[in-house]
Amino acid sequence: MGGVLTVGVLALQGDVREHLRALESAGVDAVRVRRPAELDHLDGLVLPGGESTTIVKLARIFELHEPLRARIKDGLPVYGSCAGMILLADRVDAGGDAIEATFGGIDITVRRNAFGRQVDSFEEDVAVAGVEGDAVRAVFIRAPWVQEVGPGATPLGTTSGGHVVAVRQGPLLATSFHPEMTGDLRVHALFVRMIAEARQLD
Ligand code: GLN
Repeated sequence: MGGVLTVGVLALQGDVREHLRALESAGVDAVRVRRPAELDHLDGLVLPGGESTTIVKLARIFELHEPLRARIKDGLPVYGSCAGMILLADRVDAGGDAIEATFGGIDITVRRNAFGRQVDSFEEDVAVAGVEGDAVRAVFIRAPWVQEVGPGATPLGTTSGGHVVAVRQGPLLATSFHPEMTGDLRVHALFVRMIAEARQLD
């Protein structure tokens, strides 16, 4: 087929519109995903920031939980930002806030709301491997960090405090921060390149 890639944004809760806009600017067709059948023709999917516990609950109600897990296992390229990173994590650290279940896929342990209440939100420049040019201005909002990176995953970026906040595993990408909020498209562009790579390997 070739041509323009179709990338979904899971549209149950969270900053869906910002990701749709960022993806369109990165040159793909961006579509909202709410029903299992809408997963069928995607080249990639974004799990937005929001409240991971709410997204998981709604995914069950919309009967998307199992189909999503299956598509991730099957190799669908997925990018999760913030709550989306939590949803892609294989494990959630018991020292942070709990969540009943994630979709999984990336061999990491995340800690929810890890940066603590005093710094609910902050910004910092983070160099992200695979993103060319200057460091990315990273916006953290009640963000998780990666507590432990398992052998399957690769850390891509670390804060000045030494916390891993960007990771990749094959066609799966996750960041603790929200590039969709800054107008800097380079993380979305990296994800689009990962989708193109995954299609070539098919
Ligand atoms: N604190 C949220 C959670 O644990 C994530 C916040 C965000 O996505 N901005 O799900």
